[in-house]
Amino acid sequence: MSKNVYALFQSRFPTDLSQPFIMSPDGKNLSYGQLENQTSKMAGALISLGTKPGDRVAVQVEKTVEAVVLYLACLRVGAIYLPLNTAYTADELDYFLGDAKPHIAVCSPENLDKLTPIAVKNFVTHLLTLSTDASGTLIESYDAASPVDVIADVPGDAIAAFLYTSGTTGRSKGAMLTHDNLASNAQVLHEYWGWEKGDVLLHALPIFHVHGLFVAIHCVLMNGSAMWFLPKFDIQVALDLLPKSTVMMGVPTFYTRLLDQENFGSEICKNMRVFISGSAPLLEDTFTQFVERTGMPILERYGMTEAGMITSNPLHGDRIAGTVGYPLPGVNARLSRGTKKGAAGVLEIKGPNVFKGYWNMPEKTAEEFTDDGFFITGDIATISEDNRIAIVGRAKDLIISGGYNIYPKEIELIIDDIEGVKESAVIGTHHPDFGEAVVAIIIQDGSKVLHEDDIKSGLTEQLARFKQPKAVIFIEELPRNTMGKVQKNILRKQYDHLFK
Ligand code: ATP
Ligand code: MG
Repeated sequence: MSKNVYALFQSRFPTDLSQPFIMSPDGKNLSYGQLENQTSKMAGALISLGTKPGDRVAVQVEKTVEAVVLYLACLRVGAIYLPLNTAYTADELDYFLGDAKPHIAVCSPENLDKLTPIAVKNFVTHLLTLSTDASGTLIESYDAASPVDVIADVPGDAIAAFLYTSGTTGRSKGAMLTHDNLASNAQVLHEYWGWEKGDVLLHALPIFHVHGLFVAIHCVLMNGSAMWFLPKFDIQVALDLLPKSTVMMGVPTFYTRLLDQENFGSEICKNMRVFISGSAPLLEDTFTQFVERTGMPILERYGMTEAGMITSNPLHGDRIAGTVGYPLPGVNARLSRGTKKGAAGVLEIKGPNVFKGYWNMPEKTAEEFTDDGFFITGDIATISEDNRIAIVGRAKDLIISGGYNIYPKEIELIIDDIEGVKESAVIGTHHPDFGEAVVAIIIQDGSKVLHEDDIKSGLTEQLARFKQPKAVIFIEELPRNTMGKVQKNILRKQYDHLFK
């Protein structure tokens, strides 16, 4: 079989091609037969626009069925799909397009004026539009094209997609993912999460990120199944569709929002087989409340743009809150050399899922791999005797104060339990005596007025002195990037002069 990952998906299509692949709440469905036809026609459009294998197709559009068709058509012609977060501004797009040099860029019609000069400046050959009502110049090219029944015979290490990382720790990097990377991860996840005939996925994630684009859609394709395709996570629509679904994938905030609904409980979930969470840490509190309300433990897994999924809690067997489970089959995981037994260290991984490198950044790529070919994830983890992994935090967020290693998450968990605290971020800032000092940034929930002493006294009993914050700062809101991840680099910069 061709190494093109589309060939793998096609081999898994249901025999009855009238079966649905995408079901929209408004009744607009796409069957597997239509998927095959439409991706041929879209492949024809891409080819008529001069797209060749290896060309980049950059796409910043709203979540639509046509965007999924475009993604799969890119695979078919061997072009490199490059999805971009819809929240990116013109300046950010200028950087991404200048870096990626796409042959085609597709945007929403509303952004066309803003993007035209940027596309010209960066030598994009075609700037096309795609709107949420399936119109736009991309669709005009599609309508005019003849179908081309192609599946480019690419080598397994050809780049299928390239995705920019979320930019939580600094500037986003373009991760090059090969057809083999995508195929291996899709096969493993399909098997590991026990996909069954008749499974239906509730898909409410964005499709410009590894979670919604690869993990979710690839599992469905590997199973020849259907998915409910929501433009975004609308709580009311989700509650309506959960009884008609068996699998849901979400970020932790989806689960806290479900728990906020009084009528959410086991009745609504009676057809559900598994709830899967990732992209950010799932709080133990959310996990526990979810079990209380539904009887179902959320299955937490861990991954990243550069490697797809890396670890997962088991489908059968204990799912433990605060851990991300075991390395997936084929993934070799270890802690960096010199980590003491039982201690936390930087997680390093090797496996068929690990990317080919950062686009245009050979030095950066080389830096992020060990001499024996393990990718340095930048996440700090512990690995138990039985190989269960817990993510303790990010290496860039580690605080070293007076020679001690301090993990912000340990302190944040305790602070978040103090009455009146909504959430917190603990960072290290320069300190003349200690190197770095622990600083706690607090968001209040409004139930009472908190003072610095309320936080400090809430911690004295529970934390060693060197871990206790030397300053407590109250602010209105934590800075987050478009994936909802807290940007500690911004906070560190802002409070760097506190002790100088
Ligand atoms: P950048 O690399 O640009 O700083 P980013 O690392 O946030 O951004 P992504 O690739 O989207 O970009 O996110 C991967 C990261 O998300 C992981 O390295 C990890 O820190 C975090 N993550 C993902 N799943 C989990 C999880 N279940 N628990 C804890 N952290 C998680
Ligand atoms: Mg990262």
